[in-house]
Amino acid sequence: MKRLRLAHLPTPLVPLPRIGDELGIDLWVKRDDATGGAESGNKIRKLEYLLAAALEEGADTVITCGGVQSNHARATAVVSASLGMRSVLLLRSTDGSLPVAGNVLLDLLVGADIRVITPDDYRRRHEVMARVSDELRAAGRRPYVIPEGGSNALGSLGYVAAMEEVRQQTDAPFDVVLVACGSGGTAAGIALGAAGAAEELVAVAVCNDEAYFRERIGTIMEDARALDDTLGEPVSWRVEDRFKGPAYGVSTEAQRQSMIWAGRRAGVVLDPVYSGKAFHALVEMSRSGELAGKRVLFVHTGGLPGLLAQSDTFGLNPLGSSDV
Ligand SMILES: *Cc1c(COP(=O)(O)O)cnc(C)c1O
Repeated sequence: MKRLRLAHLPTPLVPLPRIGDELGIDLWVKRDDATGGAESGNKIRKLEYLLAAALEEGADTVITCGGVQSNHARATAVVSASLGMRSVLLLRSTDGSLPVAGNVLLDLLVGADIRVITPDDYRRRHEVMARVSDELRAAGRRPYVIPEGGSNALGSLGYVAAMEEVRQQTDAPFDVVLVACGSGGTAAGIALGAAGAAEELVAVAVCNDEAYFRERIGTIMEDARALDDTLGEPVSWRVEDRFKGPAYGVSTEAQRQSMIWAGRRAGVVLDPVYSGKAFHALVEMSRSGELAGKRVLFVHTGGLPGLLAQSDTFGLNPLGSSDV
């Protein structure tokens, strides 16, 4: 499969004893928050394959979609600009507003054409993106559509490759990998690529529910195995939906406290939409004994711009104490 080299690889695989010892687990983190600069996070790994296909088709414009603070849309916009392509981002907003902060600021800086769409239209996103694609084609452009989160068979190959990277970075396989799950492609790739690197995957849902992601991840894996016949059976995997919080992009006080703890304890900066929820799941599952004594790999998927767009939800007092 054609692949562009976009990410800074290999990303570091580092132990986190200051957190792991306190939780009673052997904790390691795969620093996929460090795959790049403004384009950083888990989405670049998928874009290495998706944009290779786009260029091969002679595309000059990339269309994709997501929430207002979509990391995927931002990574797509930044990388597209670096490759000389234009990007059209369909961003879901309930009230039509689009605060220029975090990911949106980056989208605008690299010249993305942002179109705000309603949650109803977002439910029909495949149709809406196809319509935009037709419009652009009629105007003489050559569009390439990337689905939500870059999560299809081709995109998931980025995480098959990431697990090959982990295999080369470690002597002993991990007992379990935890990763945030928002559109399923990362989890699908990890499960397909994990043999020899990890025994089991826990995909921590940040929205929807277990049934939804079981179907999504299962379909992406099936399609990926049809696309690449060298892929074998996935390792054992499951979706954990107990820690998704109130809604997509909305966290609980307990989740924010886990994020603050990770930051203060070990300098691990998480985001409230994805990695913070997955990390909170890791904390809770360690405390309940589910992960006790295990060798655990936490995949840090990035999301820093989304964190910076939510500064007011943390209630942190710059003049207050930093005791933890
Ligand atoms: C998109 C994203 C995820 C989830 O990955 P999916 O492949 O969409 O499930 C996790 N963390 C961050 C920071 C993301 O932007």
